[in-house]
Amino acid sequence: MVRMTEVKRTQLSHLTAQLDDLRQRGTYFKLRVLEDEQGPVCTYDGRRVINLASNNYLGLCDHPKLREAAISATENYGVGSGAVRTIAGTMRIHMELEEKIAAFKGVEACVVFQSGFAANAGTVSSILGKEDFIISDELNHASIIDGARLSRAKIKVFRHKDVAHAEELLKEVASEPGRKLLITDGVFSMDGDIGPVDRLCELADRYGAIMMVDDAHASGVLGRNGRGSVDHFGCTDRVDVQVGTLSKAIGALGGYVCGSRDLIDYLYHRARPFLFSTSHPPSVAATCIAAFELLEREPERIERLWGNARYFKEQLAAAGFDVGGRTTPASETPITPVIVGDGRRTMEFSRELFEAGVMATGIAFPTVPEGKARVRTIMTSEHTREQIDQALETLTTVARRMGIL
Ligand SMILES: *Cc1c(COP(=O)(O)O)cnc(C)c1O
Repeated sequence: MVRMTEVKRTQLSHLTAQLDDLRQRGTYFKLRVLEDEQGPVCTYDGRRVINLASNNYLGLCDHPKLREAAISATENYGVGSGAVRTIAGTMRIHMELEEKIAAFKGVEACVVFQSGFAANAGTVSSILGKEDFIISDELNHASIIDGARLSRAKIKVFRHKDVAHAEELLKEVASEPGRKLLITDGVFSMDGDIGPVDRLCELADRYGAIMMVDDAHASGVLGRNGRGSVDHFGCTDRVDVQVGTLSKAIGALGGYVCGSRDLIDYLYHRARPFLFSTSHPPSVAATCIAAFELLEREPERIERLWGNARYFKEQLAAAGFDVGGRTTPASETPITPVIVGDGRRTMEFSRELFEAGVMATGIAFPTVPEGKARVRTIMTSEHTREQIDQALETLTTVARRMGIL
């Protein structure tokens, strides 16, 4: 028989207090539950909505070819890899995926991690030590920040996309003996703007810094056949460490690092998520291989994505929404923020939109700066013109009713 403890446990009461605080500020949320497949229109919490919230840029989450690849790999190789990569969990299909990505990106080698988060955190933390320096854009992804902290290197943060500021920081530490790592997101996930990869590469060359780009939101979106921002800027030979994700446009799960053979060999030996966490099930690797084949064969998906993104952005701006970022120019990608300002009102706007049939996530402080709360919209290649127009109409109607427009 289970006996309830009579004394109320209070060890975690500080968490309850913090949750109450979130509720007070109106930024507490419940998880929305998807009841069918990820798609341009789908069902969350029992409601059919036009989906402007996923990272499913190319509609690959439910693509028949990818599904087939996953099923066939499951039938042939089972559901799990059974170990970490370095012990007994490297399957042939893992190697095939890494070779596929390296060839696609035009680099010597590639290592796949369990997620983009693990790729960033595992790489930054293992290639630097406490005598080194990390020069990082202030809006870089959380996984870069965590990796930087784990490395114990000294962290210098430059103002968003401010190349001159990055140079100032590099100059400050130029005479120090430690290595320098210059790091930026290729596409920033909150404003949808593109990092100045080409100009940062020049700086890295000039100051002898290691150059690293996190291309999570650019993988499958920017560059030839979706090769990413580094390809978009023609900088493949100048970026030492290229990170990408398999969890967004690629439609499955995982992250990868591309670079020289030695970089990848080193990560095989030293990156902690690679060494201490089990590798992907074979189905995931097979899905990703099929996705890269699609990118190579069907670039029209990417064209459709950009066509939709341009149209939606133009219409949002024409309707009078604030689609600006922290800097101008604002969004240059399929991510478009609709800035509301106040956190509570933003969350209300997002809830009202949902009730009216549009799913767009509210994002408030501390994810974005205070006063810059927004609902974030993401276009995909699979939204029809009809769905986009319907979404625009709903956004406009709800915003007018709430006094946002
Ligand atoms: C989403 C994202 C990641 C993490 O990728 P996952 O594969 O989802 O773990 C890393 N960096 C950036 C910039 C991202 O947007």
